[in-house]
Amino acid sequence: MERLLTIAGSDSSGGAGIQADLKTFSAHEVFGMSVITAVTAQNTQGVFAVQDIDPGIIKKQIEAIYDDILVSAVKIGMVSQVETIKTIADTLKHYNEQNIVLDPVMISKSGYDLLQPDAKEALIEHLIPLARVITPNIPEAEVITGRSIKTVVEMKEAAKMIFEMGPSYVLVKGGHLEEEDSTDLLYDGTDFYFYTSKRVPTKNTHGTGCTLSSAIAANLGKGQEIRDAIKNAKDYIQMAIEHSFSIGKGVGPVHHFH
Ligand code: PLP
Repeated sequence: MERLLTIAGSDSSGGAGIQADLKTFSAHEVFGMSVITAVTAQNTQGVFAVQDIDPGIIKKQIEAIYDDILVSAVKIGMVSQVETIKTIADTLKHYNEQNIVLDPVMISKSGYDLLQPDAKEALIEHLIPLARVITPNIPEAEVITGRSIKTVVEMKEAAKMIFEMGPSYVLVKGGHLEEEDSTDLLYDGTDFYFYTSKRVPTKNTHGTGCTLSSAIAANLGKGQEIRDAIKNAKDYIQMAIEHSFSIGKGVGPVHHFH
């Protein structure tokens, strides 16, 4: 069985972060493992506190896995601090990990900073070049490129700029654009590929970014080609959002299918 690793933050309410990643891995029938980078206190209404995990313990967790287990693919999510980012990059480089999906998590839907402001440069310098695929949404692509993105043309320009930072593929997620359908675009350094999906009229979208990136990682871990991995992950997240539900007073989680 494929072995998938998520390096990400814990969401106590189970909708995003490590919990979403492990549920997504199970739904894809791959074996999930986790390196926890931060513990968040959150529910459907917001993030109330974050405790970053010591980088030394993050390194030990990664080493414990790689010294024993063959990893099929890795998803990286919340990595809020400079030291955390450097440690993860150095350790994954040491093990020559190539199959990395990087979700550059920055701000929660409820508005909490999940990436410290000074960590952006570290992300660009150390982690983005290691990624096989990076999956920014529009606000994240704006922070990474320092440009405002309001149109598909600007999305394409941002994808090109991010590609120059060293990943093999860039998937810019267009859900934040005010268009009728939601279009994501993949750039491989030469061509653009578009993935358009119908908007689902629901407020329950907590953890969608985490779920999409871990579904892509699961599919890459199974050996799927990049375009299939993304298409299949998009189909998965669409179904998961269509069947999302309320568990509290705020933004509920998506449904993970088996
Ligand atoms: N909490 C953690 C640990 C996350 O990794 C993320 C996003 O990646 C979130 C919260 C935010 O989730 P959302 O913006 O979907 O509510």
